[in-house]
Amino acid sequence: VSARVAGPVLGLDIGGTKLAAGVVSADGKVVSWERAPSVAAEGPERVIARLVDLGRLSVRRAGLRMEDIGGVGVACGGPLDPETGVIINALNNPGWVNVPLKSMLEAALGRPAYVENDANAAALGEHRYGAGRGTDNLVYITVSTGIGGGLILDGELFRGENGNAGEIGHLQVAYQGRACHCGGQGCVEAYASGTNIAQRAREALVSEEPSVLLELAGTPDRITAEAVADAARRGDPVAARIWDETIEVLAAGVASTVNAFNPRLVVIGGGVTGAGDLLFEPLRRRAIARAMPPLAAVVRIVPAELGERTGVIGAAAVALTRVSAPA
Ligand SMILES: [Zn+2]
Repeated sequence: VSARVAGPVLGLDIGGTKLAAGVVSADGKVVSWERAPSVAAEGPERVIARLVDLGRLSVRRAGLRMEDIGGVGVACGGPLDPETGVIINALNNPGWVNVPLKSMLEAALGRPAYVENDANAAALGEHRYGAGRGTDNLVYITVSTGIGGGLILDGELFRGENGNAGEIGHLQVAYQGRACHCGGQGCVEAYASGTNIAQRAREALVSEEPSVLLELAGTPDRITAEAVADAARRGDPVAARIWDETIEVLAAGVASTVNAFNPRLVVIGGGVTGAGDLLFEPLRRRAIARAMPPLAAVVRIVPAELGERTGVIGAAAVALTRVSAPA
């Protein structure tokens, strides 16, 4: 017996640099949306207090009272435990070690809270309300400061044994490759995250010919993934090589994921997808070429649709899914 809740719910998004909150109706409409900077260095208590204020503000701006909210969904970087709602050790939020996020939010807001890994929440959001509507098997990948992923298999979010499945950024596609901050080696993220695209460009400039990259960025420490994409588009040889390698690593990760899970859709979001066709066109071609033919034949690689509201809509999808789950 499921206790269906019609909504609305409150979605909260804890990013490395910003916080967002919004009231979302059961059909995925964003009723209110607020955003504020987050300073990870302030530590979890201060960040959570700010998030609570932002949540209260969104409920007020939606013309509602907190009692009208069916539940609170929270998207946060992992590793975390979605059952207990404890953040175990957030890779991108230093100092977040064993933070009881669920109980802190429930105490502050007086509503049931549901915590999910941010990429898993985004996968759920794209599945219910974005590029993946109507698809049963979907892989979501976000290529941003880091690389996250989430899996929808047979219509449901696949969490794994302790809630951290789908870490596609940490597929080790180069077994003797670059060290990754996760402790692994040759991870997709160690090459193709925004941070590492810029880092690889800096390393290339030390030993290679002059590049327009330095003119674009000014100094090596100001090189960004976006600057690498711009320079590659202009035909700069150093940037083009870095970009091609990025595509090949992402294609290896996507093809491995396709071979493992046989999805209908691979939905790719995150800041680096701002490069548009410079990313998607060669990535589709190389990923399809690398995947096994019967699996490649049924998969499509598409951009995510929810944009900057992904975190809030994904968090809301978590609340709507878990509030209405059978007891
Ligand atoms: Zn890794």
